[in-house]
Amino acid sequence: MKKCRCGKRAVIFRKHEGRALCKYHFMESIEQKMKKTIGKNKMIKPGDKIAVALTGGKDSAVVLYILNKIIKPRRDIELFAITVDEGIGGYSKPALKKSAALSKKFGIRQHVFSFKKDFGTGMDTKVRTIKKHKSGLKEPYTYCAVGRRYILNKEARKLRATKIATGHNLDDEAQGVLMNYIRGDMFRAARMGPVTDWSLTKKKGSLFVPRIRPIREIPGNEVSLYIRLKGLDVFKGERPLPGGIREGVEKFLNRLEKKYAGIEFSILHTFDKILPSIRKGVKGTEGEIRICKKCGEPGSGEICEACELWRS
Ligand SMILES: [Zn+2]
Ligand SMILES: [Zn+2]
Repeated sequence: MKKCRCGKRAVIFRKHEGRALCKYHFMESIEQKMKKTIGKNKMIKPGDKIAVALTGGKDSAVVLYILNKIIKPRRDIELFAITVDEGIGGYSKPALKKSAALSKKFGIRQHVFSFKKDFGTGMDTKVRTIKKHKSGLKEPYTYCAVGRRYILNKEARKLRATKIATGHNLDDEAQGVLMNYIRGDMFRAARMGPVTDWSLTKKKGSLFVPRIRPIREIPGNEVSLYIRLKGLDVFKGERPLPGGIREGVEKFLNRLEKKYAGIEFSILHTFDKILPSIRKGVKGTEGEIRICKKCGEPGSGEICEACELWRS
């Protein structure tokens, strides 16, 4: 193995940067990178009350750990965790246990919610009853993602959070960019990026808690390495595969990244460059935010997406 610039044995060789890093300098670089992402995108400001969407897996654990490290010395910012139990057998419960242990270890308050309580049923039961949408695009993954987003937003808002921090890493972000491109979904694309804040542009936008993605520039394998070196106990079980196009995109990107190191970075950075144009392009055409007739939560139609998928 190569050596770090400090002379110590390297724990990683970053192909796209052409440099090797020792344990100390690798971990420092991850924390610096996250701070930089937060700083340049103005993700946090005094008075913020940040809800970390904690799953028990590696990504949100890193977000919680580093945010806590940054925020602890400051008295003007509050941090807590929100966890959603999706009811996926063999996954949700053990992940929930890990998330509770992590919160306890860091001295962070955790709030737990569930699909079962909100929708009457969890993912396992739902998957058995899902009839595929005729376009073939509504995979179980969509039900899960929509449900999670809905509960996180509703509960974070009730808890008066000013931001929701999620554990989307670079791999997730690059996948998201390609997914939206494939689906031609410009509205969804406009909602991506480091910060999503509807209150800046839309009436009733404040019903959506702004979202921040502090590790969007950190690849998944580096998140794993950080967790391992730090000795954090996270849920390592395989996430159920998303299925459909997303799964294909994930495999495709993994293959490309292996062959052409840094390609996910360029996908993300190119997207960031065109994001302002996408946002400008959809502005005024995406319709107003409406209040769901069934549940009173914000959405784009008469009935919100969560009620459509979960309560009909
Ligand atoms: Zn070093
Ligand atoms: Zn609704």
